[in-house]
Amino acid sequence: MTQFSLTEDQIAVRDMALAFAADNLAPHALEWDEKKHFPVDVMREAASLGMAAIYTRDDVGGSGMTRLDAALIFEALATGCPTVSAYLSIHNMVAWMIDRYGSDEQRQRFLPSLCTMETIGSYCLTEPGSGSDAAALKTKAVRDGDHYVVNGVKQFISGAGVSDIYVTMVRTGEEGPSGISTLVIEKDTPGLSFGALEKKMGWNAQPTRAVIFEDVRVPVDNRLAAEGMGFKIAMSGLDGGRLNIGACSLGGAQAALDKALAYANDRKAFGKRIADLQALQFKLADMATELECARTFLWRAASALDAKTPDATKLCAMAKRMATDTGFEVANQALQIHGGYGYLADYGIEKIVRDLRVHQILEGTNEIMRLIVARDLVGRGNQPR
Ligand SMILES: Cc1cc2nc3c(=O)[nH]c(=O)nc-3n(C[C@H](O)[C@H](O)[C@H](O)COP(=O)(O)OP(=O)(O)OC[C@H]3O[C@@H](n4cnc5c(N)ncnc54)[C@H](O)[C@@H]3O)c2cc1C
Repeated sequence: MTQFSLTEDQIAVRDMALAFAADNLAPHALEWDEKKHFPVDVMREAASLGMAAIYTRDDVGGSGMTRLDAALIFEALATGCPTVSAYLSIHNMVAWMIDRYGSDEQRQRFLPSLCTMETIGSYCLTEPGSGSDAAALKTKAVRDGDHYVVNGVKQFISGAGVSDIYVTMVRTGEEGPSGISTLVIEKDTPGLSFGALEKKMGWNAQPTRAVIFEDVRVPVDNRLAAEGMGFKIAMSGLDGGRLNIGACSLGGAQAALDKALAYANDRKAFGKRIADLQALQFKLADMATELECARTFLWRAASALDAKTPDATKLCAMAKRMATDTGFEVANQALQIHGGYGYLADYGIEKIVRDLRVHQILEGTNEIMRLIVARDLVGRGNQPR
């Protein structure tokens, strides 16, 4: 990217993802939401175009692209269905964590099938008693020879029950972040089971369940990096995950804005198109402006993560907060512009609002994003920037 424009390659990648979303996601998104259908086959088609392991290295089948490329792809996919795009984002995060922290043997063992989505990945950090305070997690892994014996429960796990690979943060040592390690746990391991399908406000095209570990024996060979590295691994995965979920909000909101524009040009009130009402024009102008600001900033944060700048984590937190808040507000305003029809499922707007709401909660709540930014600001004391 030159400072504010995309390269020809980036435009081509984005357009490929936009076409995929228009042809393969948008026509089915309402039905998948209603029937709570997780479209694994369609995600595998996305994988065949390189969208399941976008920033995983190419020697194991990844696309070897940048975080900015990923942001473009997730925004584009989310114009068709934010929920499916968001699941692909989680899967991408899981693949990258194995790519970044796994040994050569682990990379060769797990990644080729994750890259094609022959196997599907889930990320297991949250527990019933710890969400924002993730370092308080209690799922315990006790060493027994060349295995760990894992006991505990992970809550709210996206893809659980369908996924084949569970990248799981467990406690192997003392309390706090330094006692946490990361294990790659396979679905068919005895003692692994799943809670009931959660009933949710949105994100219905992907399953959410608890993952339950009862004396699950996991080979030590499935641990990513050294004991005690797990919290660092989990958080570094989330830097990119936050950009991606922000991008999903931008794509959902862009689709809602486009629908609102089309509707406003069509709908008549008081003898003219509602698009001719200046109050509504100003609302549309603000929606477009705020979306563009959030998008520009998200690209900046993605470029910082690509360049591994010291402020990348803070910028990713800022971008996640801004893109998911803006995305939700824009989608909600788009619903308002549709009047009563916006509240009806057939118009596709209320689904976008429901889907985007959870982006303000997961991958770290937007309060936690403020905490990350504030820690950096206040932690600097009276040193100027
Ligand atoms: C649909 C869905 C899918 C999910 N998928 C996954 C997944 O795949 N893997 C996974 O590991 N997790 C997943 N999550 C869990 C998600 O990441 C957590 O819900 C989230 O991190 C918040 O944790 P919590 O729900 O325990 O809320 P809490 O941490 O209990 O927070 C409650 C409220 O307190 C606020 N709060 C907490 N601490 C502070 C603080 N220090 N300062 C200010 N405010 C604070 C929070 O912002 C929030 O508003 C998913 C959640 C949902 C709803």
